[in-house]
Amino acid sequence: MRLNGMRRFVRSVFFPKVLNFKSGFKYSVLLGIGGNIGDSKRRFDRLFRLLQDDKRINLVESSQILVNEAFGFREQADFYNAVILIQTSLSARALLKVTLNLERRFRRVRSFKNAPRTLDVDILYFSGRNRNDSRLTLPHKGAEERLSVILPLGVMKMGFKRSRFGN
Ligand code: AMP
Repeated sequence: MRLNGMRRFVRSVFFPKVLNFKSGFKYSVLLGIGGNIGDSKRRFDRLFRLLQDDKRINLVESSQILVNEAFGFREQADFYNAVILIQTSLSARALLKVTLNLERRFRRVRSFKNAPRTLDVDILYFSGRNRNDSRLTLPHKGAEERLSVILPLGVMKMGFKRSRFGN
């Protein structure tokens, strides 16, 4: 099968990685990450370590990295995309603060829609919650239709199977 814009899967030190579910966390969350400036694989690995060091988060699994053509504004480098399954007891809003801080840490500059970016972190699914307010839409708008989410998720070992996004 040839999917438009999809190029290949690549691996890095921490993508893919299968760790474990732990008891004591309230929510299972799927994060989507993306970037297309500089060394995205290295940046994803640095992000993985930061998430692993954060006591509020348990990192369960990371996917392989999908390299795919930019959409929207197309005159830019290919995108690298992956998904990360985590557990947390933080509220969705509190987790959004954490992810926005991580983006800031990697010096993401918001210039225009679909512009090149160092690191984008989206909360794709949050334990089956639905929400739509000025700051947060859950599930994330792209979660169900973007191949950059669906394909990495499809090659995960545990992914949806053992998490509880759907209920
Ligand atoms: P973007 O430029 O696509 O990364 O959009 C970032 C903004 O989208 C953030 O400031 C959030 O307030 C908002 N947003 C809404 N829903 C989500 C979500 N599920 N995950 C991450 N950001 C979200």
